[in-house]
Amino acid sequence: MMKLKGDRMKKTIDCPSCRTGSVISIIYGMPDYQLLEQAEKGEIHLGGCIVSDNDPHYYCKECHAYIYQNNEFYIKKENE
Ligand SMILES: [Zn+2]
Repeated sequence: MMKLKGDRMKKTIDCPSCRTGSVISIIYGMPDYQLLEQAEKGEIHLGGCIVSDNDPHYYCKECHAYIYQNNEFYIKKENE
């Protein structure tokens, strides 16, 4: 597949934790119907309505890592 240069909208990154490409964008704010549907399909991850200055931008479906734009990440434990 051809990859267009400068196509920043569909930027995919490899997970800095498990190195797979199962990384999706985190969407903040109140989700509408379309976003809920996308979240159900695993295309996006809903980050909730509470937004801080330092929120992760991506979520890894493989290892559940929350990834920042600078490639730092943390992994949320199940019981948190
Ligand atoms: Zn991962």
